[in-house]
Amino acid sequence: PVILGIETSCDETAAAIVTRDASGMPVIRSNIIYSQIDDHAAFGGVVPEIAARAHAEALDGIVSAALDAAGIDLSAVSCVAATSGPGLIGGLIVGSVTARAIAHGRGLPFIAVNHLEGHALTPRLTDALAYPYLMLLVSGGHTQIVLVRGLGAYERWGTTIDDALGEAFDKTAKLLELGSPGGPKVEAAARGGDPKRFALPRPTRGETRLDFSFSGLKTAVRQAALKAAPLSAVDVGDLCASFQMACADVIADRMMRAFARFRAEYSDIAVPTVAVAGGVAANETIRQRLDEAARKAGFTLVAPPLRLCTDNGAMIAYAGLERFEAGLVDRLDTPVRSRWPLDETAAPLVGSGR
Ligand code: ATP
Ligand code: MG
Ligand code: FE
Repeated sequence: PVILGIETSCDETAAAIVTRDASGMPVIRSNIIYSQIDDHAAFGGVVPEIAARAHAEALDGIVSAALDAAGIDLSAVSCVAATSGPGLIGGLIVGSVTARAIAHGRGLPFIAVNHLEGHALTPRLTDALAYPYLMLLVSGGHTQIVLVRGLGAYERWGTTIDDALGEAFDKTAKLLELGSPGGPKVEAAARGGDPKRFALPRPTRGETRLDFSFSGLKTAVRQAALKAAPLSAVDVGDLCASFQMACADVIADRMMRAFARFRAEYSDIAVPTVAVAGGVAANETIRQRLDEAARKAGFTLVAPPLRLCTDNGAMIAYAGLERFEAGLVDRLDTPVRSRWPLDETAAPLVGSGR
């Protein structure tokens, strides 16, 4: 099958064509992404109304570009998949309505994909990873540890009780006036900085449950910044390095617990896998600590290429591909959902709406 996937849940307008080769391996035939980052830059964050309008303006061209880059037209497409939640409602409507219009016009099946399922299945697209595996999703909107047992079978083991990790990076960058998007700026400023200079807290470290919390860390950074003001470039570098190390420590601590829990549930898997997704996966320090922790626990770390870790159409097309092959198509009147926990994607009804 040839799947057209559409992603419009936040500030990327994206479309992709994914299929399988003769041996059954997934193939990305095209993956076109328009980042709206410049449209929102002046506002210091994503403005929902601007995002929706930008999606509406760009999407037709992005879909055409994805078809062109794949060297096909709509007659070659078997199914249309679109992110239908969670995310900003305006963007979700634009993407989902466009997908449903194409599906209706062409008499094709439509699949309403959960954005988080797209992230969760990406390591199967890039690394042909077998179920089950552990997933750490660290993005601007989410910080979750998920057990991926199979298609549509997800258990959320932990989530943030306040800020997402990417959000903590973005807020830290804003506080230190480093600009946006914050993650890469903080990482760049941290280079050469002293991670031990500022004693920052490690929220949730040692707790039994697998949840995260980053707002206390953010407050501690603010207090340290006030105390050290006026900040020199060296101060900013040390503060960023200290913040980043605190984040990496927290991730390593939470994941060590998740690894133990996975071992207890799947004692028959000798070398289990943990996959990482989301924009924060770009962070070298966090990746390194995660790799260290995984090794220590006897896990293999799979980190898909960054352009597939952040929001893209290929992950939605791939989730659509697995669902299409399983006969899990959706009705054209399936509503979009701004809130749609991944666990609720579990055990879908075959062939009917969810
Ligand atoms: P979601 O996918 O949850 O809806 P999103 O679209 O904002 O949210 P992504 O596009 O996956 O998430 O990632 C963007 C986030 O990743 C931002 O918060 C950004 O600051 C962060 N990020 C990007 N690069 C880095 C980095 N090198 N270090 C830390 N954080 C980073
Ligand atoms: Mg994004
Ligand atoms: Fe995302």
